[in-house]
Amino acid sequence: MIQHHPDESLLLEYSAGNLDTAQALCLRLHLDVCSRCRCQVDMLDSVGAMLLQEEKSSALSNDLFDRILTRIETLPEDEPKPKVTTDPLRKLVGDLNALPWKRQLVNVSVYDLSEQFPDQPGQVVLQKISAGGKAPVHTHRGTETTVVVQGGFTDNRGVFEAGDFVVLGQQDVHKPIALHGEDCVTLSILSAPVRLTGPLGRLLNPFIR
Ligand SMILES: [Zn+2]
Repeated sequence: MIQHHPDESLLLEYSAGNLDTAQALCLRLHLDVCSRCRCQVDMLDSVGAMLLQEEKSSALSNDLFDRILTRIETLPEDEPKPKVTTDPLRKLVGDLNALPWKRQLVNVSVYDLSEQFPDQPGQVVLQKISAGGKAPVHTHRGTETTVVVQGGFTDNRGVFEAGDFVVLGQQDVHKPIALHGEDCVTLSILSAPVRLTGPLGRLLNPFIR
C-alpha cells in the first residue's frame, strides 16, 4: 500500500513534460503502482490539453474554467484497470540481482547509472540495503529524490515500500533500515555530490559548496 507520494508540483511538472528523464523515471515507477497520483496526472493532462487547444484557437474563452471543471468531473474517480506495462527500470538495466553492484559497506551496495541519463546534472544511482540490514546515518548536501523499487525500509518518517516516493533535503538526517524478507533497492537522484568527510574533504568542503 503506497503511503508516500510525490507532491503536486512534481506531478504538474511531470504532466507538463518538464522533468528530466531520471526524474520522470522515478515518477513513472511511482505512478505505475499509485492510482491516486495517476488519477491526478490524468486530470492535469486533460486540463493541459484543453489549455493548449485554447491557446491555438485564439484568446481564452469565457467559459474555459467551466469547461475544465466539467472535464474534471467527468473523469473516472479511479482507474479500475490494473496497470500492466513493462517496468521501465528493468527495461533499462535488466535483472536487478544480476547487476554489477559495488559494495560500499557490509549491508550497502550501489550501482551508478548516471551515464544513462546525460541530461541529469546530478547522480543517478540504485542503492541496495541487504534484507534487515542497516545503512549508516547520513545527511544530504542537496536534494535526494528516491523511489523504492524492491523490498522496503523504515526510518524516522515511517515505512517505505515498493513504489513509495520521498524527497529528502539537507535538513533530513536519515538512517534507513531495510525490511526483512528481501533486499531493499531504491532508485535515487542525488542533486549534489557526496559530502566529503576525510581531512582533505573537510578542508575543501567550504570551497566546493
Ligand atoms: Zn501517489
